[in-house]
Amino acid sequence: MTAFQYSSQIRGSVLDAIGNTPVVQLGRLFGGHDVVAKLEFMNPGGSIKDRMVRYMLRHRPEGVTHVVESSSGNTGAALAMAAAVQGLRCDVTVPDRTSPEKIKRIEAYGATVHVCDASLPEAHADSYQSLATRIAAEQGALHLDQYRSGLNRNAHYTDTAPEMWFQLDGRIDYFVCGIGSGGTISGVGRFLKDRNPNIIVIGVEPPHSAYREAVTGEADEGEFRTALEGVGKRKVAASFDASVVDDVIRVNDDDALSYLHRLAREEGILAGGSSGCVTAGIAQLLPRITGRVVTIFPDSGANYLSRHF
Ligand code: PMP
Repeated sequence: MTAFQYSSQIRGSVLDAIGNTPVVQLGRLFGGHDVVAKLEFMNPGGSIKDRMVRYMLRHRPEGVTHVVESSSGNTGAALAMAAAVQGLRCDVTVPDRTSPEKIKRIEAYGATVHVCDASLPEAHADSYQSLATRIAAEQGALHLDQYRSGLNRNAHYTDTAPEMWFQLDGRIDYFVCGIGSGGTISGVGRFLKDRNPNIIVIGVEPPHSAYREAVTGEADEGEFRTALEGVGKRKVAASFDASVVDDVIRVNDDDALSYLHRLAREEGILAGGSSGCVTAGIAQLLPRITGRVVTIFPDSGANYLSRHF
């Protein structure tokens, strides 16, 4: 057993309780291999997005009293939580495929949620992305804009990655990561390669998502569709840095959900669909690689009990 350290430190607010998430060996699922996952659903807002939001709000211009973001849910929850602590007004625009649990969670923190038609292209005036831009322009709110902001990947470069590096004492051979906005893989990937250029960074996404083509140059005309939240995009987001990613592999929804269920039943880890997706991706890779594989589980299965379990 690992020795545990107790801390008597009282945090000034729940925002100071973000981070220090555990890293766990997936030894039951991947016996004979060295695979570890960082459990980001242990953050108080329920996901890795707590770190990004905290970082972005630390870097906000003076005088901001109102914040807005378009989000598939986790960033919205993180922002609503931080806005509650800091006394900011908060609007979150979400696509209508977002799980009811996530929408209720954002509202519970006192934020306003705008549910938008997910089938609209981003450029359409009523898409969830355009609505966030409009609220910012018309009401003077700060738009976090995670899909374009360089602060997204910087948050993972300065917070997520060094913490992970410290916890693992730099012993990482492969970093395997789901891609949504691309902030996590770009920030963590850059940090790892700065420390050790031999570390291989592999993205995981659903079929026909845009990132594989951005990294490999192989054209893919198929239509992107997935039941998972948080992974895959029709268009590459500006927050993605292809230069730190060595390869992107594809996982279909059936395999992702199968590994999601196995995580719960064999590892006792109730994670979200994107964690099932990366875990299935690791299962694909393991027969052809050696060394330690590190991944991140961005959010919890509690968000998707009625949808995926
Ligand atoms: N999984 C989930 C559940 C998410 O909400 C996100 C963020 N959209 C990701 C994975 C991907 O993280 P990133 O946006 O940093 O690529």
